[in-house]
Amino acid sequence: MESGTMKFEKPEKKQESKQERCERCGEKLKKVKWLEHSNTDGNYYETIPHGHVSQGLFPFGVECATQQLIESRNNIEKKRSDWQSPNPAPYEDNSLLPIADT
Ligand SMILES: [Zn+2]
Repeated sequence: MESGTMKFEKPEKKQESKQERCERCGEKLKKVKWLEHSNTDGNYYETIPHGHVSQGLFPFGVECATQQLIESRNNIEKKRSDWQSPNPAPYEDNSLLPIADT
């Protein structure tokens, strides 16, 4: 039987003595949250989507990371809805409303 020790390949650690600055607000960080920047769509991710080209990890404060992820998600959803609508008309409410003929 094996001893059960598994070796994980860890990404190279940045120097811990150096204080990281938040990519978003420039503040010095006590607690760093690393987000991966996609070269493919320019968004930041906790885990970069499959097939995206990574620009690498960037340091964020915890709150800024949360904000950044929300913005990324909004960007993605905006783009996705652009892709999904074949014609550029943003609202077609008329087709959804029951037509009241008087
Ligand atoms: Zn920040």
